[in-house]
This record gives sequence, C-alpha cells and structure tokens, in this order.
Amino acid sequence: MIVAGWRPARVVGVTEQTASSRSILLDVSDWPGNDPGQHVDVRLTAEDGYQAVRSYSLASSGDSTVVELGVDEIPAGEVSPYLVRDVMVGDELEVKGPLGRFFVWRPDQEGPVQLIAGGSGIVPLVAMVRAAEAAGVGSSMRLLYSVRSAADAMFGDELRNDAEGNGAAGSERAAVDVRWAYTRSAPPGWNGRAGRLDADAVAAAVWPADRRPLVFVCGPTGFVEHVSRILVQLGHDPERVRTERFGGS
Ligand SMILES: Cc1cc2nc3c(=O)[nH]c(=O)nc-3n(C[C@H](O)[C@H](O)[C@H](O)COP(=O)(O)OP(=O)(O)OC[C@H]3O[C@@H](n4cnc5c(N)ncnc54)[C@H](O)[C@@H]3O)c2cc1C
Repeated sequence: MIVAGWRPARVVGVTEQTASSRSILLDVSDWPGNDPGQHVDVRLTAEDGYQAVRSYSLASSGDSTVVELGVDEIPAGEVSPYLVRDVMVGDELEVKGPLGRFFVWRPDQEGPVQLIAGGSGIVPLVAMVRAAEAAGVGSSMRLLYSVRSAADAMFGDELRNDAEGNGAAGSERAAVDVRWAYTRSAPPGWNGRAGRLDADAVAAAVWPADRRPLVFVCGPTGFVEHVSRILVQLGHDPERVRTERFGGS
C-alpha cells in the first residue's frame, strides 16, 4: 500500500555499519508495512524553516511500525552527513511512504532472483534477502555485493553469517548465496582478484542467463550502468533487469 503525506518518525535506534554509514531504526505509528525494495522520502526541517528531502531505501520489510534505513555519508552532502553523524535516539524526522512499485520483490514471485549491489545499494537488497530467508525461499536467491573493502560492507556481519549458515548441518534455513567483489582491497585469504566487476566476474557469480532470473541491480549510477551492460552482454533479458540508481558516480 502506498501512503500519501508526511508522518512523524521517531528515531528508536542507531547502529554503526561502517566508518561512513549507519542504520537508523524509525518508529512510525500507523506504518502500513512495506515490500522489499521500497523506499521512503525523509524530510528534515531546520529551525529557520528550510527543508531538505532525500529518498532512502528500506532495509526492513513486512508488517511492523519500525522501519530500518541504511545511510552512507556523502562527503559535503547536505542530508546524509546529518543522518550518519548527528541524528540521535529520540529525535523526530518526517517520512513519506512506503514508495515504489517497480523495484520490488515479493516472496511469492516464482523463479530465481539475482541481486547485485554496489556500496549502499545493498540496502533495498538486504530487505529482499531478509524476506526470502523469512519465507524459506532463500535458496532461489543469489546476491553479488561489490564493496571497496570488507570494512566497507554495510550489513556485512549479517550477510557473512548468512553465507556461513548456508547448508550447515541440521540447518533448516534456506540462506541466500552471497558472493563478494572487492574493488580496492581484498581481505586476507581471498583467492579472487580485487578490482572493478568485469563480465567474467559477473558470469561466475550470478544465475546464468538461461535460467531467466529476475535481476535487481542497485548502487551508484555508474555502477548500475556498468553492471547492466554486462548483464545484457551475458544474454540476460533487459526486461528482467530492474535497476535503482542512488545518484553520484
Ligand atoms: C530511490 C532512492 C533510494 C535511495 N536509498 C538510499 C539508501 O538506502 N542509502 C543511502 O545512503 N542513499 C540512498 N539514496 C541516495 C540519497 O537519496 C541521497 O542522494 C544521498 O544520501 C546523498 O544526499 P546528500 O543530501 O547527503 O547529498 P547532496 O547534497 O544531495 O549531494 C552532494 C553531492 O554528492 C553527489 N551524490 C549524491 N548522491 C550520491 C551517491 N549516492 N554517491 C555518490 N555521490 C552522490 C551529488 O551528485 C552531489 O554532487 C537513495 C536515492 C534514491 C533515489
């Protein structure tokens, strides 16, 4: 359901994710719940009445009045440094949403799903990972997450635990298959290379085109365009590749 109008959102938790990012839990009374992939608009109002509005994806999904955002600081940005450095538990923001219909995945959709994230583009895809695992259909989903280094991975511990839990003896969890790509420095013991994703790296990590996966790509504009071009080169149907761009390059 899409909700019109601005609602007060009380900050009920903040967690550091990386040196430049944090997740923020907001309690929004009457929140109608949300589908994985949706976003909200956040409005800040200064004492002199000046307002700034930015969009943030939801890391949370399902029925709850608590919604989780994951915000990465853009140096010299107007809004993200405030959300990452200054917002405290008890503060009140305003949100509008949930918004978005196209970049949405629901657990009852059939067939393999491929998620590809760059940087903070992981946020809506984490909502999809959580929803798939909660619904017990994680084995049909794969995630390729490109980060500068292991320390730059938002929700990194959660995603690494998913990978380790996958197929563990006695485990009934159908965990999502998480693959990593490191653009600047790879962690010790990593036997792949570090660098920008190329066609070989994408082909090795994602569902093959002949399985006709539904693909969600999210991140900075340059990343999304680069990866989308590779997917089409690899034979993926452009109509089955959904993208969300976070601005920047
Ligand atoms: C649908 C949608 C969902 C989004 N979800 C998230 C999210 O979950 N987490 C998140 O951190 N951001 C998300 N964004 C981006 C977010 O809306 C802001 O653009 C971002 O936080 C920067 O805002 P700012 O006010 O700090 O910077 P601004 O003052 O708006 O911009 C400062 C400068 O940084 C550049 N810039 C803006 N965004 C980026 C970027 N992402 N990377 C590099 N340079 C950039 C601008 O071109 C500008 O030059 C989303 C955007 C959209 C459209």
